[in-house]
Amino acid sequence: MKVLVAVKRVIDYNVNVRVKPDNTGVATANVKMSMNPFDEIAVEEAIRLKEAGTATEVVVVSMGEKKCQETIRTALAMGADRGILVETDDELEPLAVAKILKGIVEKESPDMVFLGKQAIDGDNAQTGQMLAALLDWPQGTFASKVELADGGVNVKREVDGGLQTLKLSLPAIVTSDLRLNEPRYASLPNIMKAKKKPLETVTPADFGVDTAARVKVLKVEEPAKRQAGIKVETVSELVDKLKFEAKVV
Ligand code: AMP
Repeated sequence: MKVLVAVKRVIDYNVNVRVKPDNTGVATANVKMSMNPFDEIAVEEAIRLKEAGTATEVVVVSMGEKKCQETIRTALAMGADRGILVETDDELEPLAVAKILKGIVEKESPDMVFLGKQAIDGDNAQTGQMLAALLDWPQGTFASKVELADGGVNVKREVDGGLQTLKLSLPAIVTSDLRLNEPRYASLPNIMKAKKKPLETVTPADFGVDTAARVKVLKVEEPAKRQAGIKVETVSELVDKLKFEAKVV
């Protein structure tokens, strides 16, 4: 069984994100970038399938500028076998990513595609669903447990009312939620070994995908600063402030 995993290079989740002075986006120059955390979980799940003897090959794909190679190398150091970089300087929207992934799926014929439930930069949570629609494949999104059984895959999903289990036939799309697993750290020997693993570079044009933006960003602003809180001495002072300052009672 072949597994494909989509990994996005995003601003590291520990970084305090800053808006550019011209309000056109967020600053990325000299900012630490890392693999999207949900994609690390997706890579981990694919590698566990390989370690269990279920998957035979794990292929990772990342789209964006040349530096996405680093993200792919991280996944290779975790244990993936091979990487594909779809190189472009364009800002890719979920539909373009899904269309390119469809082209890669048609070329690679994987039995499962893992994606993160969302990328923490755009917070779109759309790509896996769009890919499933384009391929007309079953999808298990927000997965907190994945089990292969009876030639298909059972996916436990975190939904508002509790946990829902879906049985999908293969090939299928699965998007990972936070509680699916705890991704491993790559060891130094594996980081060295990953440098020798195959990494192919292609472009969106190889799949005939037009990456022009469909959505125009008008302005990016920082959220309003929170005001400092105050301590009151008595309940009557609190009620007074709620009534006459906050005007909420
Ligand atoms: P999104 O729909 O943008 O929130 O992204 C959901 C998932 O799609 C991510 O967690 C990745 O697995 C995948 N994805 C999105 N953009 C890219 C990209 N540029 N390269 C590789 N995978 C991506």
